[in-house]
Amino acid sequence: MKKLYKKSSLPFLCLALILTSCKVQKDVASFEAMNTFMTVQTYGKKASVTNEEIKEKIKDLENHLSTTIKDSDIYRINDNSGSYIDVKQETIELIDFAKSMAEKTDGALNPALYPVIKAWGFTTGNYRVPDDEEIKELLSHTDYSKILIQDEKIKIDEKMMIDLGAIGKGYAGDCAIEIMKKNGISSALMDLGGNVQALGVKPDGSEWTIGIKDPLGKGAVAAIKIKDKAVITSGGYERYFTENGKTYIHIFDGNSGYPVENDLLSVSIVCNSGIYGDALSTSLFVMGSEKAHEFWNKHKDFDAILITKDNKIIYTNNIGDKISILSTFDQIEIWK
Ligand code: ADP
Ligand code: MG
Repeated sequence: MKKLYKKSSLPFLCLALILTSCKVQKDVASFEAMNTFMTVQTYGKKASVTNEEIKEKIKDLENHLSTTIKDSDIYRINDNSGSYIDVKQETIELIDFAKSMAEKTDGALNPALYPVIKAWGFTTGNYRVPDDEEIKELLSHTDYSKILIQDEKIKIDEKMMIDLGAIGKGYAGDCAIEIMKKNGISSALMDLGGNVQALGVKPDGSEWTIGIKDPLGKGAVAAIKIKDKAVITSGGYERYFTENGKTYIHIFDGNSGYPVENDLLSVSIVCNSGIYGDALSTSLFVMGSEKAHEFWNKHKDFDAILITKDNKIIYTNNIGDKISILSTFDQIEIWK
C-alpha cells in the first residue's frame, strides 16, 4: 500500500512543483554603477519595482560616495581638507565603519590611502608610476586616525584624502538586501562587479551555487553553495595597468605605497554582511596568506577562500562541505 501511494503521488508532486515554480515572477536588472557592471536577479511579486528601487539607491550611493563626482560627500571632504564638512548621516556611518576596520586590520584597510592611489592614476585613469620621493611624501598624509568625526561633520587633515572604494559595493549590496526584505522578497541573487550577495535560497528551495573566478583566466576554479550570504572577492586581476612589462594592480599596501605584491592572487570572503565581506576581502588580500591566517584565527566570524600564486587553494574548515574544487591545484590547505 505504502509503495503504491508513493508511486502515484510522484507525478502529481512534480507537476505541483513545476506549477509553483512557473508562478514565481522574476526580474533581472543589469546596469553600470560604481565603475562596474551590476546584475540583480530578483524573484517574487514585487521583483521589478524592487529592482528599480535598488538601481536608484545604488546610483544615489555612487553620487554621494564617489571620489570623482564633484559635490559628492567624499569629494567635498577631500576638496576641503582641514575643515569640518557637513555630510549625510549614511556617509558618516560608512566612514566610521571604515575607520574601525582600519583599526581592526592594523591599517591593511586604510580609507585614507587615497592620495597614494590617486597619484598612481587609479580612479582617475591617468596611470603612472610615481617616484619614491613622491610616494614617501604622499604616505605622510595617510594616517586614518586623523579622520575626525563630530556629529554630522567630518574633518581630515590638510593634504589628506579619503576613499570608500573598498567597501562601497558591499554596502550597496546590503542596502539592496534591505530593500528586498522591505518589499517582501525572499529570493534573490546579485553580482555587483564581483561582489555576489544572495537573499534566501533559489525559488526551487535549493542553495545558490557561486563560482570562484579563476584569477588567471576565464571560468571558475571552485564553486560554493550558499544561502543568505555574501561572497566577496578581491584580486589583482580586476583592475590594473602595465608599464614597461610590469603590472600594477589597484589594491595598495599602505606601508610601501605600492600596489600589493605578495603570495596571493585572490581572496574571497563568505559571510553574512556585504560591507564586512568587502572590507575583509581587500584587507586579507593586502595582508598576504600568513597574516590573513592569523587574522582569521583571531576573529573567526567569517569564512574565506584564498588562491595563491603557487597554485594553492586555501579555505576555512567551516565551508568545507559547501565547496567543490573545479581546477587542479598543487596543494589544498584547510584552515581549522
Ligand atoms: P574591487 O572594488 O575591485 O572589487 P576592492 O573591494 O578590493 O576591489 O577595493 C579596491 C578599491 O579600494 C581600490 O580601487 C581603491 O579605490 C581602494 N583601495 C585600494 N587599496 C586599498 C587599501 N589598502 N585600503 C583601502 N582601500 C583601498
Ligand atoms: Mg573590498
